[in-house]
Amino acid sequence: MTSYVRADRFRDRVLGAMFGAAIGDALGSAFEFVDSATIARHLGNDGIVREYHPALSGSLLAPRAPGKPTDDTAMALCVAGVIASSDEPTATAFATSFTTQLRRNSRSRIATMFWTGGPGGATMRALARLDAGADPAESGAPDDGGNGAAMRAHPVAMLYTREAALRVAGLQARVTHGHPAAVEAARAVAAIVHDALHVDAFGDVTLSADVPDGISEPTFLRAWKAAHAEADSEGDALPPHLRDVGMSGWETVAAAHAIAMRYPDPGEAIGRATASGGDTDTIASIVGTIVGARDGFRRLPTRLVDTLVDGGLVRKSATALADGGGGGFGFVVNPRASDYDEQLRGIEEAFGRKRPRGLGLGLDQTDGY
Ligand SMILES: [Mg+2]
Repeated sequence: MTSYVRADRFRDRVLGAMFGAAIGDALGSAFEFVDSATIARHLGNDGIVREYHPALSGSLLAPRAPGKPTDDTAMALCVAGVIASSDEPTATAFATSFTTQLRRNSRSRIATMFWTGGPGGATMRALARLDAGADPAESGAPDDGGNGAAMRAHPVAMLYTREAALRVAGLQARVTHGHPAAVEAARAVAAIVHDALHVDAFGDVTLSADVPDGISEPTFLRAWKAAHAEADSEGDALPPHLRDVGMSGWETVAAAHAIAMRYPDPGEAIGRATASGGDTDTIASIVGTIVGARDGFRRLPTRLVDTLVDGGLVRKSATALADGGGGGFGFVVNPRASDYDEQLRGIEEAFGRKRPRGLGLGLDQTDGY
């Protein structure tokens, strides 16, 4: 079986997943822990947040300037850095990235983004345990089930086989979150994004209400089923069960996927998730990464991309991941895929070309499609 994708589309989806997550995070940072009814009153519109707002008074991060990503993006950048530089990431590699890049007294932009973004309790406790010498493979407490491990899981989808992506997603999750359903939620994000990035050469991505292959933890499955009930209910507004959802990893990821599925327009999906109430930065961020992977960077709202604070950090990180997956033309064959040679042979047969070197085939973009 071949599973190559057009290089330009793969790249567009990688950038989309990284930027979608960051703009969702920055949009949601204005409303964290505010309920959906209050947000709706504040917006006075159709329930879609279309621009960056200063933090609403009474929200977690107020006062806060518009357009600033939070701990979600800071940690995703840490994970992306490990993924871009390692074929075989370990729990220690993730722990080292978190403890060195997110040092409390650091003036770096990523540490500032993290500490001014309201980092979650489980992560703070795990970082303290790591500082005290805990083993990174088990520094996440078994009852810590928040969404902090899932919000940063998308970069692991980009350079590995599906199987490896799910394994690494679990590995990075357990550094801070030990609850099995929170680990499963992080693996689910990796699966959803991986499946969107690697949809075959010319296909469009369609999200499905079926639970992703390889995801089986019972608590996660229950949340998934609940979130996807009435998935095709009438009207544009978010149905009540997708508003003010809980902050567990499983509730957040299940709701984020259901919201992404409901709205074919990526800006609307992210904007409605932002207004959904509760842990708005994280739910909008996970919706953002799903629709970014589904629809690509080019369909994200340009103004939000252009005015994202620290957008340069996101672009650098996203570009490193996109380039790690292949050149700027031809087809991407994941160099780390176990069936790398088989995939290349499949492309050669399909297009009657010899592979010149390296990753892709030397197909001109105007040639063949
Ligand atoms: Mg946050």
